[in-house]
Amino acid sequence: MHPREQTIFALSSGRPPSAIAVVRVSGTEAGTALQKIAGAIPVARSAKRVLLRDRRGEAIDDTVVLWFAGPVSATGEDVAEFHVHGGRAVLNALSAALLSIDNVRPAEPGEFTRRAFENGKIDLTEAEGLDDLIHADTDRQRRQALRQLQGLLGDRAREWRRELIEASALIEAGIDFADEGDVPDDLLKPAMAKIARLRREIEETLAASAQSERLRDGLTVAITGPPNAGKSTLLNRLARREAAIVSPHAGTTRDVIEVHLDLDGYPVTLIDTAGIRETDDPVEQEGVRRARDRAASADLVLWLADDDTDDVGPSQTIGEGGAPLWLVRNKVDLSGPENDGANPRQLEADLGQGVSTRRFRISASRGDGVDELVAALTAFSDTWFGSGEAAVITRLRHRNILRDAAASLAKAEDLVGQGDELVAEEIRTAVRLIGRLLGRVDIDDILDSLFRDFCIGK
Ligand code: GDP
Repeated sequence: MHPREQTIFALSSGRPPSAIAVVRVSGTEAGTALQKIAGAIPVARSAKRVLLRDRRGEAIDDTVVLWFAGPVSATGEDVAEFHVHGGRAVLNALSAALLSIDNVRPAEPGEFTRRAFENGKIDLTEAEGLDDLIHADTDRQRRQALRQLQGLLGDRAREWRRELIEASALIEAGIDFADEGDVPDDLLKPAMAKIARLRREIEETLAASAQSERLRDGLTVAITGPPNAGKSTLLNRLARREAAIVSPHAGTTRDVIEVHLDLDGYPVTLIDTAGIRETDDPVEQEGVRRARDRAASADLVLWLADDDTDDVGPSQTIGEGGAPLWLVRNKVDLSGPENDGANPRQLEADLGQGVSTRRFRISASRGDGVDELVAALTAFSDTWFGSGEAAVITRLRHRNILRDAAASLAKAEDLVGQGDELVAEEIRTAVRLIGRLLGRVDIDDILDSLFRDFCIGK
C-alpha cells in the first residue's frame, strides 16, 4: 500500500510525561483501531470513556476516545483520538497496539496537516497559518497566525483567482470568436476594467503587508561595543526579567548570545555580539556565521560603552540597512549620576547625519536605568511593528507571488492593442501564480469556466 494511503498516528500533545496525552489516528484503519483497542467505534464527535486493551486483552489504560468520520474531520479522513494518561509506558503500549494493525504506521512530521491540505480541508496559506500558530511566541503573533489560519489571505486570493479566471475567459472567448484575432471591445473592455481593479487590490494588500511580516519574524536588536563594556551582563539582566522572557536558550556558543523578549506582545530578539567568537568546531562555526549575519542585519543597534570613556560609538557603520543606533553608557554605578557621559556634540559629529540615535545611562550589573531602556525598546517596537492588525500577508513567499501577479496584470494592461493572445497569457500567468499561493495549480479551471459560462458550441 502506498504510504499516502496508509493510516498514520502520532502523539499530538506535548512531550511525555504529562497528565493527559492525545494520540491521533488518521486514515481508513482509524475505525479498526478503535474497534480493536477500544472495543467499539463510539458515536461520532462525542467523548466516550473506555478501557483500552492490547491484542492479548491486557488493559492499557482507562481513557476517553473520540471518533470523527471522514470527510468531516480535521484531515478529511476517518480520525480517531485517544486521550490517554500521558505516561511513557501507556504511550508505548498504545503505540504497540496501533502498530500491530496492518497498514498503520507512525506519522511523518506535518503529515496530518499535509493530508488536510491534500483533501482540500485547508489551503496552503491556512497550513502556513497553522504552522505560525504552533510557533507563535507572543500574543500578537498568535492573533496574526489565527487570522491567517482562519483563511483571510486564502479567501481573498480565491476571490481574486475566480475573478481573474472570469476575465481571462472573456478574453479567450473573444479570441475564439474574432476573425482577425482582435477581441471585440464589448468583451475586452469589461475584462480589462476588472483586471485593473484586481491589480489595484493586490497592490493595496501588498502595501499593507510589511508590518505583518515583521511581526512574524520579530525585531532583532544587536548589542555591540568594546570588550568588557558589559554586553553579556546586560543581556543576562534582561534574561532574568522573567515577565519579559519567552524562551531564553543557550546560543550557538556556550555563552548565551540570544535572548527572546516578549515586549508588550512584540517578539524581540537581543543578540550579544560578544558571544560571537572564533571557534574550530564546524557546527559552532556555522552557528557563529549565522549569528554574525543576524547581527549585521539587526533592526536596531545598541552600542554599549563605559560611562567614563570618550567612546562615541562604532567607528564604522554597523548593519547594512543603516539601523538606528542607541548609545548606552554602562557602569553609571562607578561614575555616579552627575557624570553626563560623552559630549553630545561630538557624538553627533562622529555619527554623521541620517543615523538616528538616542542616549541612555545604565548600570547593567546593578539595574539602574534598565527599566527605562526596556520601556524605550517597547516604544520602539510599537512604532516599528505598526498596528499590523489588518494585514494578511505574513510571509515573503506570499509577497513575492503577489508582486509577480500584480506585475503580470500590469503587463497585460500595457499589452492591450498589441495582441490579445499576449494579454491572455499574462492573465493566465497571474492565475497560475495565485493558484500557487493557495497551493493549487489547475490551468484547466480556465477552460472549465470558459465552457461553463459561454457555451460556445464548438
Ligand atoms: P562584555 O565583554 O561586553 O560582554 O562585558 P561583560 O558583561 O562580560 O562585563 C565586563 C565586566 O564589567 C564584568 O566584570 C562585569 O561584572 C562588569 N560590569 C558589567 N556591567 C557593569 C556595571 O554596570 N557596573 C559595574 N561596576 N561593572 C559592570
